Amino acid sequence: MKKYFLSFIMLVIFETVAVTLWLTQNNTFYLFNFSYIGISISLGIFLYVKKYKYARRVAQLLVGLYMLVYLGGICGENMQIEGFWYYLFTGVFEAATIHYAVAKIFGPLLFGRGWCGYACWTAMVLDFLPYKVPKTPRKKIGWIRYITFAISLIFVSALFLAHIGNIERIMFWAFIIGNVIYYVVGIILAFVFKDNRAFCKYICPITIFLKPMSYFSLLRIKCDKSKCISCGKCKNVCPMEVDVTDNSRKRKNGTECILCFECVKNCPRDAL
Ligand code: SF4
Ligand code: SF4
Ligand code: SF4
Repeated sequence: MKKYFLSFIMLVIFETVAVTLWLTQNNTFYLFNFSYIGISISLGIFLYVKKYKYARRVAQLLVGLYMLVYLGGICGENMQIEGFWYYLFTGVFEAATIHYAVAKIFGPLLFGRGWCGYACWTAMVLDFLPYKVPKTPRKKIGWIRYITFAISLIFVSALFLAHIGNIERIMFWAFIIGNVIYYVVGIILAFVFKDNRAFCKYICPITIFLKPMSYFSLLRIKCDKSKCISCGKCKNVCPMEVDVTDNSRKRKNGTECILCFECVKNCPRDAL
């Protein structure tokens, strides 16, 4: 049963959030929302333990499509970073604010960038592209993420400062147009840099939250040095170029780990 522990723990964490928010906010949506996400993620981890090849993709599609189509498209919640600023400025405790707090700000202290590996609807599409492992060296253009972060904040601030009416409607269309732009830019970058995750590495504004918080992540992959034969297979299969053989928190690209477990699956000595 020990091997199912992580799957069980994830379910317990999400159910705790679901029940707490349901009872404190008196809103059954939170019970449904976080139960669904928790069940999807623990199902993905369960399938991984069962050695199902597409386990992570199952969780990614279940959560990603739910957020993109149901929460974003049908319920009209802007789940992108602009939605977070919007609800933060209005002081409304809505799904987007809670989503950011759980998945992208405080959650990474527990499960690192699990969001990026198992739930993000942008990566859900990018992971279908052909460059699962980068074919070109990493570029020094990560500073672009600060610009996209600033643009998102300035955009929403400007709407409030200019007293634009019907901001809710604008936020809905910002969600639709923003996603289209993310997909187009992400796909173009993937082909230009021959790297499916180029968008995550250089452009995504959410990494401004994710990277520093995941530095302290409780859940992280460690290397048993006594078993490791320095074959380098873990580095060769890593989509994020993490030096997972270094156990220190300062490991190269350590805050990029999306917990995809490709390194673990491919280690010939079960050192990870
Ligand atoms: S870095 Fe951004 S786009 Fe990439 S998976 Fe994470 S949240 Fe999604
Ligand atoms: S794949 Fe395993 S044995 Fe090879 S370098 Fe990585 S941790 Fe060491
Ligand atoms: S291959 Fe390993 S180190 Fe690289 S992102 Fe996946 S889990 Fe993290």
